[in-house]
Amino acid sequence: MDTAPARPAFRFDNSYARDLPGLYVESRPVRVPAPRLLRLNRALAEELGLDPDSLDAAAVFSGNVVPEGAQPIAQAYAGHQFGGFSPQLGDGRALLLGEVIDRHGQRRDIALKGSGRTVFSRGGDGKATVGPVLREYLIGEAMQALGIPTTRALAAVATGAPVLREVELPGAVLTRVAASHIRVGTFQFFAARGESDKLRALADYSIARHYPEVAGPDLAGAANPYLAFFEAVAARQAALVARWMAVGFIHGVMNTDNMAISGETIDYGPCAFMDAYDPGTVFSSIDHTGRYAYGNQPLILGWNLARLAETLLGLIDADEDRAVALATAALERIMPLYRAEWLGQMRAKLGLVGEEDGDLALAEGLLAAMAGPGGEGADWTLTFRRLSRAVAGDARAVRPLFADPAALDAWLPRWRARLAPGAAARMDAVNPVTIPRNHMVEGALGAAVAGDMAPFEALLGVLEAPFADRPGFEAYALPAPASFAGYRTFCGT
Ligand code: AMP
Ligand code: MG
Repeated sequence: MDTAPARPAFRFDNSYARDLPGLYVESRPVRVPAPRLLRLNRALAEELGLDPDSLDAAAVFSGNVVPEGAQPIAQAYAGHQFGGFSPQLGDGRALLLGEVIDRHGQRRDIALKGSGRTVFSRGGDGKATVGPVLREYLIGEAMQALGIPTTRALAAVATGAPVLREVELPGAVLTRVAASHIRVGTFQFFAARGESDKLRALADYSIARHYPEVAGPDLAGAANPYLAFFEAVAARQAALVARWMAVGFIHGVMNTDNMAISGETIDYGPCAFMDAYDPGTVFSSIDHTGRYAYGNQPLILGWNLARLAETLLGLIDADEDRAVALATAALERIMPLYRAEWLGQMRAKLGLVGEEDGDLALAEGLLAAMAGPGGEGADWTLTFRRLSRAVAGDARAVRPLFADPAALDAWLPRWRARLAPGAAARMDAVNPVTIPRNHMVEGALGAAVAGDMAPFEALLGVLEAPFADRPGFEAYALPAPASFAGYRTFCGT
């Protein structure tokens, strides 16, 4: 008697592989000896319409079993890394398994990271290790909970094989879910090679997948869909960076291959959250010049978008001078757009309703007070969170955060005069209590690498509800102790 065939765990529909031949190379994950599931994101699996109990998660999310319907490919891309152009980067340690349509009707990529060498690996081993894989998992979930567009981890699996870095480290594979993995660098790859047909196909695909509105008949942009596409990407990335700035997030490696066309945060390598407010804050050990410092992120946003615009010139207009004029005008709109997004974020953080002329000066006045006279910045996260208690006049919680409370004391009455009823509750809904504090992240990852997942689970649980004041969890909200000064991060995922 026939039994109904089991429904495949994933219902793949692989449009990138189908529609964009020549933009990738088919590839297979490398077998790992002893896959062990470290963490499965059940909430995300549910969102994807995936039944994780119907599959051997360790086998599938290590790459040992390629699920039915998947078509693993390594995507080609290029990129400016720290300002220098690398014409060929590509998925050197990652594979796109395929795409699924989630419960909201959104197309999502399912990719493995750390799944072994591909044609794009250059000198690398194609591998990832437990610490950085869990770091990407943790920070991605924290960003999601903060309401910031982000790629997310579906699973983390230990491979059972050591990976050689400076020392031997336990290997791992991350399963990453993204709106797509198309980057600024993907456009650069085909532009640099003069492959204009592939570039146009990529642009058309990106518009259809991420910005269908620009091709619509009733939009101004439809007259020049590629220019409208550029402006739409710029708007989403500007909104994204404004959100990063609002929570003190430092991406750390804003190379053009790490900026997603979708407007999601991608590639959590040396990223970290700032404690004390200082625009010059850099954590990445390889960012010697501070190119990707906290305060530089808006400038780099514009720089990266200029690189994207260059790739699109031939599509924007056949007449080069006209294309350059149109692209230049679009680029000139980015910083005003970013500043408006940022001011919107700051208004929300300060509990302001509506828009008034003095709002920018008010926000900047607080930042100046936070910066402090001797570079002893006030804690970014705690300042905004505790400020809500000062709405009604009690500044005792926020004052000790300031090296020079006199500047704060002068600012507070200006701010209170601008407030409308309900400000404190509005502020507490947008200013987090907990962010991934660097010493907490390091502690959790150190324990996980040594085999104890309990601190990771506890931290993840706190970060999943970042706006809640939870008795007993106060330690998670505090900045790193002074002994943690000079914290450095590494690009290891
Ligand atoms: P990332 O630093 O993750 O943005 O990666 C930059 C480029 O280096 C991408 O093309 C990666 O695929 C490649 N890459 C990074 N680490 C490795 C590795 N261990 N093996 C092979 N390629 C790598
Ligand atoms: Mg990258």
